[in-house]
Amino acid sequence: MPKMDMRRYVPWLESRYVQELGGAIEPMCVNSCDEVFAMGYESVVNCTGIGAGKLANDRSVTPYRGQILRVRNLIGLKECLLEESREEIGSYVFGFDDYLVLGGTFERGQTNLIPEPTAIEAIVSRCQALLVAGGVTQVEKLADERIAALAGLRPCRDIGPLHEAVRLEQEHRSDGKTLVHNYGHGRAGVTLSWGCANQVVELLEAAGIRSL
Ligand SMILES: Cc1cc2nc3c(=O)[nH]c(=O)nc-3n(C[C@H](O)[C@H](O)[C@H](O)COP(=O)(O)OP(=O)(O)OC[C@H]3O[C@@H](n4cnc5c(N)ncnc54)[C@H](O)[C@@H]3O)c2cc1C
Repeated sequence: MPKMDMRRYVPWLESRYVQELGGAIEPMCVNSCDEVFAMGYESVVNCTGIGAGKLANDRSVTPYRGQILRVRNLIGLKECLLEESREEIGSYVFGFDDYLVLGGTFERGQTNLIPEPTAIEAIVSRCQALLVAGGVTQVEKLADERIAALAGLRPCRDIGPLHEAVRLEQEHRSDGKTLVHNYGHGRAGVTLSWGCANQVVELLEAAGIRSL
């Protein structure tokens, strides 16, 4: 599957949107979708991840913390190795040009963005075991040169056994304005992004809105 170095991918997306397509990015915190319509917009796409819990009054939106460790690629790994997740624990090593991403955790309701040393050390041990199982040797120095330990929140939407019950639909409004929700992507927001964006465009065009 394709993999993206997010340090390059996100700036590329931003420049495509702003420079190539003439979009604008205005950082601000909003308290409701109505507040955005009140600024004069005829159509709004709600892609606020965890924020959608409040903005769409959706109690199924739940943060799941993920912790990872970035290390220099001292073992020359080119591939990705992944052990299927057993709920809170899943192990993976993703190789990029000059660094590796070691993961991870999947912690329901945890919102502290400071990585926990115990969890990070457990990730290193599991990734070493995963690499050995995958036939990679010399894993002792895997985490000798650490770049950063990071924690982020996955914007899940828990419905029944599903953690990624994506909500992608137009909400009917009595004022005739167009509100499209696109959230709940949990662990897979990058993977699903282009497909979901295409569906959002289809919904907007069906409502008579011209896309960029
Ligand atoms: C450790 C980790 C590893 C991951 N690995 C992968 C992976 O390998 N593959 C994959 O596909 N996905 C992965 N994900 C998940 C992926 O990052 C998410 O699914 C994706 O970011 C969701 O995108 P989003 O735009 O819906 O929400 P977000 O990325 O959360 O963006 C929502 C935006 O809305 C803004 N916002 C929220 N509320 C408001 C408000 N009231 N006013 C104004 N702005 C607001 C936020 O500031 C934010 O900028 C990973 C996540 C983590 C934490």
